[in-house]
Amino acid sequence: MNSTNHVYIALGSNKGDRLKYLQDAVNLIFTEIGKVNSIAKVYNTPAFGFEGDDFLNTCIAIQTSFSSEAILEKLQLIEKKLGRDNRQSTTYESRTIDLDILFFNAEIINNNELIVPHPELQNRQFVLQPLKDIASKFEHPLLKKTTEELLLECEDETEIEDIKIWLKNPSKQFNFSSYNYIAIEGNIGAGKTSLAHQISNDFNAKLILERFADNPFLPKFYEEPQRYAFTLEMSFLADRYQQISDDLSQLDLFKDFIVSDYDIYKSLIFSKITLPEDEFKLYRKLFYLMYKDIAKPELYVYLYQNTERLQDNIKKRGRDYEQNIDDEYLEKINSGYLDFLKKQTELNVKIIDISDKDFVNSRDDYLWLLGEICNE
Ligand code: ATP
Ligand code: CA
Ligand code: CA
Repeated sequence: MNSTNHVYIALGSNKGDRLKYLQDAVNLIFTEIGKVNSIAKVYNTPAFGFEGDDFLNTCIAIQTSFSSEAILEKLQLIEKKLGRDNRQSTTYESRTIDLDILFFNAEIINNNELIVPHPELQNRQFVLQPLKDIASKFEHPLLKKTTEELLLECEDETEIEDIKIWLKNPSKQFNFSSYNYIAIEGNIGAGKTSLAHQISNDFNAKLILERFADNPFLPKFYEEPQRYAFTLEMSFLADRYQQISDDLSQLDLFKDFIVSDYDIYKSLIFSKITLPEDEFKLYRKLFYLMYKDIAKPELYVYLYQNTERLQDNIKKRGRDYEQNIDDEYLEKINSGYLDFLKKQTELNVKIIDISDKDFVNSRDDYLWLLGEICNE
């Protein structure tokens, strides 16, 4: 889920429980395509171009990593699921649900399956009205006019009515609002950083990432562990301490909470494995001196991943210095974490087994994981 596409979709229904079809469609778009950023009000519109019952129409803005072709395909599957009958698809007719792509970023697409921007949008009140609720300043990439301007110029005089009903945003089912600070932890290659990124993106959280890339001792440590372990652990501790105290002290008014891809205890867990006993004791002393005055996460999530998958992920991301990590080291780290977590009485810990999940590539798995994190 790396590149993010911003997509506007028009929804319409004029058959059966119209409001429920709209809500079901939004829910399915959320589970199958991507995050729903905004939802317009619902409007009632007389059927346009054919005899039939009134439509309810609305528009949504979503954010997804899927291509335009994939989105169209998924929208058509959702239409099918919601009982859209396509036997006479060459004429306008009553339908339980119609899902059209209005804009895909500011791209212009024109092929057999797909025309974007939707070629009729500027001629339709029932599209422009709801679209204006959520995209009044968005500029049509071909007509070079904003939705607001297009609406003023639109010649369609159909009476459309704001029925003062809003659909629910499905992401509200995930309630992060009870936390100010969530730490994501896990072994090397477990996917901490990807998950922290995704959460911060989808739920307006401030992201704190471990700055391992700047640590000059890390590659040296993997070359000569005995020689560099203490220096490495000390430099990590100093850096983590500084980062957490700086970042947590600047509470960001525009972010709802903080998510980090590590917790400071990591320093202690790793040093116990990498340092000889006497050095570890010294290290632990220093650790607790610093630890007592920094903010602790309100939720500590440990992503458990089996060693084989960890190795796959480490290979895939291809950092040179990580390529010779052996299974035994990974297993030691995992037991180091689990021993530590077992003893925790003050941290609110959730250990989540993601061994047979792929939350980076499967939206299903990602939503499952969010549920595990948020639900009691
Ligand atoms: P209209 O496009 O005028 O609103 P419609 O929605 O009733 O008409 P459908 O029968 O739902 O039309 O779709 C016909 C075809 O339109 C689909 O098979 C799809 O391939 C194609 N199409 C082209 N551009 C788009 C788009 N931007 N969004 C959705 N479908 C599109
Ligand atoms: Ca349509
Ligand atoms: Ca359509």
